[in-house]
Amino acid sequence: MKRTVGVLALQGDFVEHAASIERCGAQGILVRTAIELKQIDALIIPGGESTTMGIIAESIGMVEPLQLFIASGLPVWGTCAGLIMLADKVEGGKRNGQTTLGGLDIIAARNFFGRQIQSFSASLSVPKVATEPIDVMFIRAPGITRVGYKVEVLATVSHNDSHVAVAVRQNNILATAFHTELGDDPKFHRYFLSF
Ligand code: GLN
Repeated sequence: MKRTVGVLALQGDFVEHAASIERCGAQGILVRTAIELKQIDALIIPGGESTTMGIIAESIGMVEPLQLFIASGLPVWGTCAGLIMLADKVEGGKRNGQTTLGGLDIIAARNFFGRQIQSFSASLSVPKVATEPIDVMFIRAPGITRVGYKVEVLATVSHNDSHVAVAVRQNNILATAFHTELGDDPKFHRYFLSF
């Protein structure tokens, strides 16, 4: 049966994610309500602006339904701002105490690689996902500054002479600091669909 993957459509680049999911042969639907959460087998939280996403989620009563979905064990993938939403702890950025969802045992540092103008693309080696390098984009991306013992690091990039984690997995939760949905390389979406 065709998998139904929901893309949280409160803010950010949810349309691109849904299109990538469809290209992989699964059904991609946009999710904004608790009822829609019940109709999906997996969830993607897209890139965008985590503070705004948190404010909207809070104002429409979606924080708790989303937390329950994450705790249910169904696959969840957060990209960029989505990674920040999933992190148990967030540091950096101007606002402290922003609304997030949690569930992933990492510390995410917002805007780790600098401002919008310092955005970059990279060809990343991610052996668990593909044998050849994957082209990805970092747009005001977070860095993962700490991972819990249950968290597997899938990819790192070097930054200021050290290696920082940018893709991690904890059971059925996947988080990537970068965007793969903006290009046409479906490898990460295929990997997520294998969960
Ligand atoms: N810097 C943004 C934030 O803090 C994330 C950027 C993105 O998703 N491309 O939420």
